[in-house]
Amino acid sequence: MNFSENSMARTSLWVPGEDLLNYINGQMQPALGGAWLENMNPSTGQVMGRFPDSDASDVAMAVEAAAAAFPAWSGMSVEKRSALLYRLADLIEGHAEELAAAESADQGKPISLASKTDIPRAVDNFRFFAASIRTFSSESQPVSGGHLNITLRQPIGVVACISPWNLPLYLLTWKIAPALAAGNTVVAKPSELTPLTAYLLGKLCGEAGVPPGVVNLVHGTGLRAGEPLITDPRIPVISFTGGTVTGARIAGLAAPLFKKMSLELGGKNPNIVFTDADLDQAVETAVRAAFTNQGEICLCGSRILIQQPIYNTFRDLFLAKVKALSVGDPREQVNLGALVSEGHLHKVLGYVQLARDEGGIVLCGGNRVHPEGPCQNGYFMEPTVIEGLPNTCRTNQEEIFGPVVTLQPFENESEALVLANGTPFGLAAQVWTSDLSRAHQVAQQLKFGLVWVNCWMIRDLRTPFGGAKASGIGREGGVESLRFFTEPTNVCIKV
Ligand code: NDP
Repeated sequence: MNFSENSMARTSLWVPGEDLLNYINGQMQPALGGAWLENMNPSTGQVMGRFPDSDASDVAMAVEAAAAAFPAWSGMSVEKRSALLYRLADLIEGHAEELAAAESADQGKPISLASKTDIPRAVDNFRFFAASIRTFSSESQPVSGGHLNITLRQPIGVVACISPWNLPLYLLTWKIAPALAAGNTVVAKPSELTPLTAYLLGKLCGEAGVPPGVVNLVHGTGLRAGEPLITDPRIPVISFTGGTVTGARIAGLAAPLFKKMSLELGGKNPNIVFTDADLDQAVETAVRAAFTNQGEICLCGSRILIQQPIYNTFRDLFLAKVKALSVGDPREQVNLGALVSEGHLHKVLGYVQLARDEGGIVLCGGNRVHPEGPCQNGYFMEPTVIEGLPNTCRTNQEEIFGPVVTLQPFENESEALVLANGTPFGLAAQVWTSDLSRAHQVAQQLKFGLVWVNCWMIRDLRTPFGGAKASGIGREGGVESLRFFTEPTNVCIKV
């Protein structure tokens, strides 16, 4: 072995097949009960390795470590905390290629997407909050009537971070970074479908010199490892991203315990295209918005609403582009990789059957794909476009979370709003028009947490992020995150 091979081997973060471990109190360890779960590679359908099937005893140990680490971490100067987060960001960046490969193997997404989006965003999450905590301050209200009000923004304690499988490291760090920056300690549970990059983040926390107990990562299932985290009385704050049904369950468990909660949940996002839109851009972005990450992004535009006069033109242009998308081995230059699991693939295919049963016409796609070569048993699916369904049917009401999009015509602005607002969800909407007044008027009437006009997925970390209605409670992002992860205490002083 020559020197460079040797140094690569020494700095390698992950050797395929190695056991993934919990990271508790700065130590890598298996589940206390000794149980394991298999980690699948969705693009081959093969087992990649195993990870701890943790239970309440592991969670209790992690919470204890986090509680013990809290006084020193919250008391550390903001400058030092910030410097540690910058160091962690640098380490993630330094291992970006390896992390992207790991994310792609674990989740199924094209490696190009992980390299371009997931990993750089994880780096940004740490850098952004490392910077913003240095300008985040307590507030004071000028003396009035002889009293001075100061509102302190203090760290709260141990935060539970529970994240989903679609953007594993991206969303895990979206929670951990501001929670830590604000002076809290963390116990996080990643999805059982995508434990890999969370495990690697644990390694990097150690390397960055994050003190033991400040970040704890416990792997396992929602029921065995997630629920004990939600109900642990030593945890006052929960940041959860996942499905609406799980969110309701978590809210039900946590509300009687008076925990502070942020719930970022599912979506059924409309993409409204008016006749005066820039058609080429609208079509191109609609394709990206529907099928990026195999449609497994909570912000994907899965219902395209098109004004009647341009319906046929839009549909034909859209279909031509969708049919040109490539599906296959995520290590290659493809547009769509594998869906995250066999169960999820069957759920999504089931929705295509449901759409047919409801009277929908499948214009393209709808089938499982078996690429030639090593990925032939992976969980791939064609990008699918469906038309001819009313807004009220299940296909148009329920979150599918896969590469399936429906097209619906509308006559005028008010009908577009009724259709767009006409689901239980309210996460993200798109509006395509060249009329600024219309864009503004429609945006105001959309009951959504985010509205993109003539664009999609532009995410500025300073802006509030979250959903309305069944898409969640609360907002994170920028100052909203720092407010969420701190407790305001009003101190009123007679002067
Ligand atoms: P789930 O709700 O199934 O799971 C999310 C996380 O919660 C996982 O870590 C899961 O663990 C855990 N969990 C499951 N049950 C419980 C429980 N009873 N108590 C505590 N934790 C639990 O969501 P998915 O992972 O399937 O992710 C997809 C969903 O996430 C979609 O609905 C999507 O829209 C939503 N999402 C929302 C976003 C937003 O910002 N609004 C962003 C991204 C996704 P396990 O995996 O082991 O079951």
